[in-house]
Amino acid sequence: MPTSIENLAALDQTDRDLLISQQTLKNLDKEIAVARMPLSACETSLQEKQTEYDEVSSKEREANLKLSEIEAFIEKLESQVPLIRTQKEFVASKKQLEDARKRKGMLEEEIVEYMDKQTEYQTQLKELQTQLATESEAFEQNIENLLKEKETTTNKLEELKNNHKELISQLDSKINQFYKRSKERGIDPAICSVVNKACSGCNTVLPPQLVNEMIAKPSQHRNCPFCFRIIYYLPESE
Ligand SMILES: [Zn+2]
Repeated sequence: MPTSIENLAALDQTDRDLLISQQTLKNLDKEIAVARMPLSACETSLQEKQTEYDEVSSKEREANLKLSEIEAFIEKLESQVPLIRTQKEFVASKKQLEDARKRKGMLEEEIVEYMDKQTEYQTQLKELQTQLATESEAFEQNIENLLKEKETTTNKLEELKNNHKELISQLDSKINQFYKRSKERGIDPAICSVVNKACSGCNTVLPPQLVNEMIAKPSQHRNCPFCFRIIYYLPESE
C-alpha cells in the first residue's frame, strides 16, 4: 500500500517534535548544571580542605614516629652514661645527647604546629560542611521544577519515539529506504510540507508548475528539486 500523505505529515510532525523535545532536554540539563555550580564549588573547597587536613595529619604522624625514635635513642644514650670510662668517651656521649635533645625539642615544636593546623582545618571543615548542606538544600529546591519538567519531557520523548517507530513501520519500502538514508546523512527532517509555495525543509520557493501539480493532486508526494527531501502538500499547511 502506498504511503498516505497523512502518514507523511504525521511523521514530519513527529520528527519535528522529537527534535524539540531533545533540545528541551539538553537545555534542561544545562540549566541543572548551572544551578549546581555553587554546590560543586562548595564540594571542591571541601575536598581541597580535606586534602590539606590529611596532609598535615600525615606529617604529624611522621613527626611522632621520629619523636619516638629519638626518645628511644636518648634513653639508650642515657643508660650508657654510667658505663663511660674515659674523658673522650664522656665528651662524645655528651655531644650526642645534646644533639638528640635538641632534635627532640624541634620535633615537639613541629608537632604542636601540626596539631594547631589540624584544629584550624577541622573548624574550617565543619564550616564548609554546613555551607555544603545549605547549598545542597538550595540546589534541591532550585531544581525541583526543572526535574519535573525533565520528567515530563522524557516521558513525552518516549511517547514520540514509539509513535515514530509506528509511523516508520507504516511507510512503504521505497520511502522507508529514502528516509533511512536521509537520516544517515543528517537530513532531518527528511519529509516536509509545502508552506507558502516553498519547501519547508530548505525554505526554497518551488517552481510554480510543481506547486500547481501538487495542489491538483494533494494525495501524491514529490521530491524537492533543491534539497531532494520528500515534500507533501496539505491544504491546511498553506
Ligand atoms: Zn527543499
